[in-house]
Amino acid sequence: MIQVDESDPVGEVEPSFPYRNVSIQRGVDMKELYDLQSELGRGKFGTVYRCREKSSGLQLAAKFVATPKREDRRNVEREIEIMRLLQHPRLIQLYDAYDNGKAMCVVLELIEGGELFERVICDDFILTEKSCTVFMRQICEGIEFIHKQNILHLDMKPENILCLTRTGNRIKIIDFGLARKYDPQKKLQVLFGTPEFVAPEIVNFDQISFETDMWSVGVICYVLLSGLSPFMGATDIETMANVTIAKYDFDDEVFNEISEDAKDFIQKLLLKDKEARLNANQCLKHKWLSEKAVNTTLSKVKLKRYVIKKRWIKAVNTIIALRRMGAKLDFDSV
Ligand code: AMP
Repeated sequence: MIQVDESDPVGEVEPSFPYRNVSIQRGVDMKELYDLQSELGRGKFGTVYRCREKSSGLQLAAKFVATPKREDRRNVEREIEIMRLLQHPRLIQLYDAYDNGKAMCVVLELIEGGELFERVICDDFILTEKSCTVFMRQICEGIEFIHKQNILHLDMKPENILCLTRTGNRIKIIDFGLARKYDPQKKLQVLFGTPEFVAPEIVNFDQISFETDMWSVGVICYVLLSGLSPFMGATDIETMANVTIAKYDFDDEVFNEISEDAKDFIQKLLLKDKEARLNANQCLKHKWLSEKAVNTTLSKVKLKRYVIKKRWIKAVNTIIALRRMGAKLDFDSV
């Protein structure tokens, strides 16, 4: 059974990833330098493969994004530019970048432990409030660093939190594809993200800020503890309507076993008034994250159901997307 070690919750030794001052290499075939291996996952914009750098033998991840339009290329360039600023152990690290005209490839640190929620629902993982605080603390540390660099992640959701290993408790935040630099002088409004996790100001197309990510952190925490999604409606429109009025509750019986400190933490993030939300640093100082949390085992029945449903939705979306493309997407065919 895997249980978070209380004395040293994040315990295991973490090798540091080599810092590289990455610039995009154009006209170079990345396959001459890397062996491509199995597929690791698919996102909205690209496919990620495991790969091995031929010269060093280093195992890495290569994300391929088709760039038929100039705007597609600009989006990947923005992601790379932002990742160059984000050297932190709780954030995925950039290793290399290539542009062959039709597609771009971003070579990243390989994260082998899979998605956090997949790990948590494994039968050998004991979920307690204590283990939730260990994960939430790391998420807040990563977000604190991102925000210190004046960057907004804007796509904080469980799929973007990966475990470093299959047995340890270290996590990393991934996917800076929607991230933006924050300039308080400029009005920043966006219309993207996942309805379940986006803040009211996104749905309302109002000014967004650091607090926009903190809302999503609150939703992630709610789902992790309960297996329920606080704003989920029968349709995306219904979900977004619930988000705009910040309508949620702790009425379900699963919350009977959740501490008041944990609920207080969530309540201070899921506030319609973004100015009133805790920032990442305040989260780290909140009683729930800074003091010893309850170690009773939480039920994972609802969380398992939640993760399995997501797997199905993802599989169906992948099939639809592949059918639409009518071909296998790889670096040669794009
Ligand atoms: P993304 O497009 O960045 O959201 O990636 C799509 C999926 O690929 C993610 O949900 C992960 O399951 C997987 N993935 C992305 N980056 C990595 C990585 N560096 N190491 C391992 N798996 C990854």
